[in-house]
Parts: sequence; structure tokens; C-alpha cells
Amino acid sequence: MTLFAVADIVCRHGLLTAVNGVGFDLAKGEVLCIIGANGAGKTTLMRALAGVHPPAEGTIMLNGRDLTHQPAHERTRSGISISPEGRRLFADLTVRENLQIAAENGRAGDWTMPRVLDAFPQLKPIFDKQAGSLSGGQRQAVAIGRALLANPDVLLLDEVSLGLSPVAIEGVYQSLSAIKEKRSMAMVVVEQDLNRALGFADQILCMAEGRTELQGAPTDFTKAQITAAYFGIHDEELSDA
Ligand code: ATP
Repeated sequence: MTLFAVADIVCRHGLLTAVNGVGFDLAKGEVLCIIGANGAGKTTLMRALAGVHPPAEGTIMLNGRDLTHQPAHERTRSGISISPEGRRLFADLTVRENLQIAAENGRAGDWTMPRVLDAFPQLKPIFDKQAGSLSGGQRQAVAIGRALLANPDVLLLDEVSLGLSPVAIEGVYQSLSAIKEKRSMAMVVVEQDLNRALGFADQILCMAEGRTELQGAPTDFTKAQITAAYFGIHDEELSDA
């Protein structure tokens, strides 16, 4: 059954159409990875799903409720929570304080502070450190933990591995895989690392210049098809080459 139904989204930055007719349906427990080259429109789409960038066209439905025009500050209560590009933590506050704010303002549910620390054990030794002094991987773990504490139905994760070391990426994905296994929420993940995305997703959506180049289960396509879609290369261009 569809939990999160996103249809025909169009987003503009002035005259530029950054997202052009993109949509998908996600059931509870499913993971969608959005892939695509720089400037494809991935972050703009995520911002539309989070209510930060209102779409010019299209619909965003969660549990049968139309959230398309709901402002960002109300979406957490409705069940959509985002770990944004750049993480956006309170740098002067500790990890504990950053998480506490999220816990106090989120919905009630299974995701509590102890459970977040179990899911991201790398946070335990740095619990009382200022967020501004953390490594990229640590900041990412705090940002995802903060989003989980809102007990969302849909977790939005923008640019999960961007700027992280391979070890940090591995750590974050170990935690995300354990969360995915519980199948308690849907996830929409923007991931630059193609192999990671293909290994983690139930569905992939490849964007190029705002449009959907390819969409479906990773096993529906060959690696060559996915790579061509990623770089926006069309069949006729391949045959011309
Ligand atoms: P990246 O991986 O580089 O973050 P992306 O796929 O997330 O890229 P977006 O950041 O959504 O893509 O950008 C899509 C298009 O919209 C790009 O052409 C970008 O220059 C433009 N754009 C993004 N944000 C703005 C803005 N605030 N004002 C004007 N144009 C913008």
C-alpha cells in the first residue's frame, strides 16, 4: 500500500525549471535513492518534499493526506523529517543538546535518545562535545539521529555520503541498513555514490536536468543503462559515438 505518493512535481528557481514532472510512490519500509549528476535537481526536489521550496505544480500525499502546500515547520508533525545537505546542526551546542531539541519537538514514538545511540554507537563517546568540533561523519550521524527523533513516517536524507571518508560512509550505511531492516518508515535518500545507491535502494530515480531519466528497481536495469542515465546520455548519442 502506498504511504508516500509524490506526483508530477515541478519546481522553479525564477525562470529555471529545476524539477520537471518528477514523481514516485513509496510503501512503508521502502527506500528510494535519488541519483544524478550535479545540478540535476535532486536537492530542489528534497526541499520540495520537506516543504522548504513550494512546488509550482504537482502533489505530495502522505497517508492519503495532501501536504503539497503545508509549510516546512508543520511537516515534522505530519511525519516528514529531513537530514538536509550540509547537516545544519547548532554548532555551539553539544551533540546531546542538538538531539534533545529534536526529541522535545518531534512526535512520540519508538525513536528515543537511547535508541538513536544504539543505532549510531559512534555518537556515545562524543555525546558532550560541541557539534561544531565534529568530523563530517560524526555530524552526519547527529543529523540523521536528529531526524529519527522526530519519529517520521518518511525520512529524507540529502547527500548522505558527500564529503565523508570511506570509513565514515561505511559506518553511516551500517546504521541505515539496520534502520531499513525494521521497515518502520519509508526513506528517500540522495546519494552521489552510484554503487552505494544501487546496493541500498528498493527503487532508484535518476534525474538529469530536472527530469526523470530512469526509474524502477535497481535490478530492472544494467549498470550501463544506469550510468548513461546518470550522465544524461541518450541511446541516439551512444549510437553516434
Ligand atoms: P548538486 O548535486 O550539485 O547539489 P542537485 O542535483 O542537488 O545538484 P539542485 O541543487 O537542486 O541540483 O540544482 C538544480 C538546478 O537549480 C541547478 O541548475 C542549480 O544551479 C539551480 N538552483 C539550485 N538552487 C538555486 C537557487 N536557490 N537559486 C537559483 N537557482 C538554483
